[in-house]
Amino acid sequence: MMGHRTIKGSRGFTLAELLIVVAIVAVLVAISVPIFTSRMDRTKATVCEANRKIVLRQILLEQMEDDSFTRDDAEAILEKSDARCPAGGTFSVEWEESFAKVNCDRHGASIGGGEDTDIKVSQTFTEDYRQFTVEFLKKNPTKSNNQIREAFLEKYNGKWPTLTVRGESYSIQPYYQGKDKSRPVEECVWLFARPDASAAAGWSVPYVYNIVDNKWYEATKWDGTPGGAANITYSDVNALDEAVRTATHSNGNLQWIEVTDYKESK
Ligand SMILES: [Zn+2]
Repeated sequence: MMGHRTIKGSRGFTLAELLIVVAIVAVLVAISVPIFTSRMDRTKATVCEANRKIVLRQILLEQMEDDSFTRDDAEAILEKSDARCPAGGTFSVEWEESFAKVNCDRHGASIGGGEDTDIKVSQTFTEDYRQFTVEFLKKNPTKSNNQIREAFLEKYNGKWPTLTVRGESYSIQPYYQGKDKSRPVEECVWLFARPDASAAAGWSVPYVYNIVDNKWYEATKWDGTPGGAANITYSDVNALDEAVRTATHSNGNLQWIEVTDYKESK
């Protein structure tokens, strides 16, 4: 037959074999595309935030040098800057009582105006609590989460730092998952925030701080809107990181959503 070639000792694929291969490839693609896309989305959000911080630093630096610095000057700096949102968002300057913020219409606000100290409240507080817990457990190996928290609170003069969201203030508190004391403390410490400042008030709370991505998350109600309360007793920081991004109510709505606009103070 013209054009029909066979290799001696081998045969071609049958149609059924070919269909199976096509089906397997289709399944693999279907699985990997969403994983890849959600990773890309997170990477883009991180790059966007880093780019906004670069612009914000330029603005703050010039503002410190110049007493008559205005919103127009801040906007001119943004205009000149090469910083872009990798997801195609548009940057804009937000100006509130001479505190500048750089917003992205897709990814929200950089924490502006004295930004560095704002961000560092949670980070330094976590670091401090970890060190304290390690030292405390050396001397008192049997102490519980609440006993460690009470001892630590004395160091902060009986007052936890504050998280402010939409005009409401919450007390930022440390959590230590100390069930397995052979595990490194840094894998078992995170923060949460709630209106009640008492050391022992249960672990169902409106806000949790994910130390893996350094972001606050708020618990949602059943309908997926903010204003819920959820349990924060995860097995370690990685389980918490996973949960704040993927855990859902039984109706499929996300149980936690990222808080994009907030203030922290000591
Ligand atoms: Zn963006």
